[in-house]
Amino acid sequence: MPSSGYPANFIRFLGTAGTRFIMLSQRRSSGGIWFSYGGSRGVIDPGPGSLVRICEARPPLSPIDVNTIVLTHRHIDHSSDVNALAEGMTLKSRNPRGFILSTRDALEDGDRVLMKYLSSRIAKKEIHEDGKFTSPAGGVTIESVEHSHHGVECYGFIFRADGLPSWGVISDTAPLPGFPARYGDCELLIVNTALTFPRAKLDHMSLADVGSLLGRVSPAATVITHMGADLLDRGGEYISNRLAARGTKVIAATDGMILTLENPITILKPEEFDNDGAHD
Ligand SMILES: [Zn+2]
Ligand SMILES: [Zn+2]
Repeated sequence: MPSSGYPANFIRFLGTAGTRFIMLSQRRSSGGIWFSYGGSRGVIDPGPGSLVRICEARPPLSPIDVNTIVLTHRHIDHSSDVNALAEGMTLKSRNPRGFILSTRDALEDGDRVLMKYLSSRIAKKEIHEDGKFTSPAGGVTIESVEHSHHGVECYGFIFRADGLPSWGVISDTAPLPGFPARYGDCELLIVNTALTFPRAKLDHMSLADVGSLLGRVSPAATVITHMGADLLDRGGEYISNRLAARGTKVIAATDGMILTLENPITILKPEEFDNDGAHD
């Protein structure tokens, strides 16, 4: 069932916090990304506050509508609410239900983040491998892309579905030479950009790294999210200006921001919703 009041295919940023410092202050929320795409509805990286942000969203969203959960890695700002969402995803079914795509260390190993009793209620559990295609509900495929991030398993991915724009997520990672080829067909690219400039020993993308990447790929729209303190201080205008003239619409994400996953990819502003929360 589509989420009423929204387009059929969309993303809502439940949070845009990057780094543990921003998460701990909640200067930006850390709820991850809600998506409705083809027949898949769910959350990428449900960090602290994800469930609260879902329940507070207007137009409303419901954790019971979730049928897909995707984790890029197990760091706490990306994974803490995964159990709450697994509860929502499986609540209404006596039989195992839903789909989770995750790293092995988050799903199976000793320091796993998904509790066993909830894991047993999920129908389809997939482990990221570089280049692997998995299929959640509704004719959607997800291609996993291996990342390099401070010694934890970490993957980005590309969502594809017939007739809909393809969209990629680059999660927490050092910039890797394979990214232009892997993300080259994305019409929307979402990049976790914690830093303004590269910093030695920090496995995170910087705005400068995104600029280099956009010299080699041309998505219709690029969204900068998971921002650290310096980027947040500099602001969205700085981000857009720094990446201007790259042949892509650059958007600095804000908490609650909604993007259509239909062509053309469009930002929906709160004033486009009436008082009942219905989108017309
Ligand atoms: Zn992170
Ligand atoms: Zn991380």
